[in-house]
Amino acid sequence: MTSYRSYTAANIHELPQYDSIPEEQIRAIRTVARVYPFRVNSHVAEHLIDWSNIPDDPLFRLSFPQAEMLSEDDYGTLSALLTQGAPAEAVSAAVREIQFRQNPNPAGQKELNTPSLDGEPLHGMQHKYRESVLFFPLEAQVCHAYCTYCFRWPQFSGLENLRFQDDSVTRLVGYLRLHPEVRDVIFTGGDPMVMPSETLASYIRPLLQVPTLKTIRIGTKALSWWPLRFVAEPDNDALLALFEEIVGSGRQLALMAHISHPRELENPLAETAVRRIRSTGAVIRSQSPVVRHINDDAGTWEAMWQKQLQLGIIPYYMFLERDTGPKEYFAVPLVEALGIFNRAYRRMSGLGRTVRGPSMSCSPGKVAVDGIAEVGGQKVFVLKFIQGRNSDWVGRVFFARYDADATWIDDLVPAFGDEPFFFEAELRRLSGS
Ligand SMILES: *Cc1c(COP(=O)(O)O)cnc(C)c1O
Ligand code: SF4
Repeated sequence: MTSYRSYTAANIHELPQYDSIPEEQIRAIRTVARVYPFRVNSHVAEHLIDWSNIPDDPLFRLSFPQAEMLSEDDYGTLSALLTQGAPAEAVSAAVREIQFRQNPNPAGQKELNTPSLDGEPLHGMQHKYRESVLFFPLEAQVCHAYCTYCFRWPQFSGLENLRFQDDSVTRLVGYLRLHPEVRDVIFTGGDPMVMPSETLASYIRPLLQVPTLKTIRIGTKALSWWPLRFVAEPDNDALLALFEEIVGSGRQLALMAHISHPRELENPLAETAVRRIRSTGAVIRSQSPVVRHINDDAGTWEAMWQKQLQLGIIPYYMFLERDTGPKEYFAVPLVEALGIFNRAYRRMSGLGRTVRGPSMSCSPGKVAVDGIAEVGGQKVFVLKFIQGRNSDWVGRVFFARYDADATWIDDLVPAFGDEPFFFEAELRRLSGS
């Protein structure tokens, strides 16, 4: 049985597969890992990566930094400093300077989404959509391994401080009692599944005393990065008992599994993990962005959704890569993402067409690219609010001028004249600007 060993830039030479990585690539890993978080582990190395196909292997690109994640200039500057053996302060100043240029706080998350209780901000929580609250437990601010395209990279590189409070769960409960419209608490991080079962239970049990709370979600990539969490860790029975307790309280427990590639599920450990989780009555839903070099083709998505359907995982979201971090390297244009989505979606039976997207999590809400149409002689994107900062926007359709290169909502302009999008004035008002 694999035991958990993790590898960062500091001990990468201990990785059993170290000798199969070209020297140039090692240099790239050491350089880029200064800017973006890097960690792999024994499961990723032994069961996910195809070492005969690096660096092109999608699971290698998912977990090992690539030189192209930095601009040529930034890579040149940073690798020169490291090669010269520049003083630590000079290196970290250059790193910070690069990081601050990569839009570390997209979609106004910190300013706009932090709720408050008794006039005090509730750090470590976000309340953006009426019916659900995100909760970031202090002990879950890491992952079993890091995705190279991670949009939460500022949290892991010490750039963003969520300023956790000791009594955060008591305050969350207080907030939920004042806000009965919130039906759904979403545990996120990092990965809540890095926490010992006892710690997770200490966060969840108080929530079970709030009758208006009907569903609990746990966002996790542990099925992919560390399925042994559900199969063979000393306290995995306690974990599954906790899941049963949540379900037994009459609530839905949903594991929101981040799954980027079908291979993450094609091993007996992941399959056993899925079976054990489902046997508690919890449901598993899947979500992932569509990402260049990793899953940017319809066949991969079709295989992934078919595998999920077979295992009883419900496909839930296809996201577009957020406008932060190494976006240039990973982003897929909206047009291409829509094509990938449609080709895979059309191959699914109705049971697999539960998936929504391709969708942008942006400041106004979650906006899906629903289609491309020609209206009055103009080629347009048909966009639709799946979630809205104002819930009246949900379900609304709007149009943007077709643009083959657009990768994000900021690249789009309204169709049919120069009016702003219908939500812009109100969004500015809600943002207090
Ligand atoms: C995506 C998201 C949610 C959940 O949205 P659903 O459509 O219900 O899955 C909640 N809060 C934030 C901030 C989100 O980005
Ligand atoms: S699992 Fe999520 S939070 Fe963790 S590294 Fe991957 S994208 Fe980031």
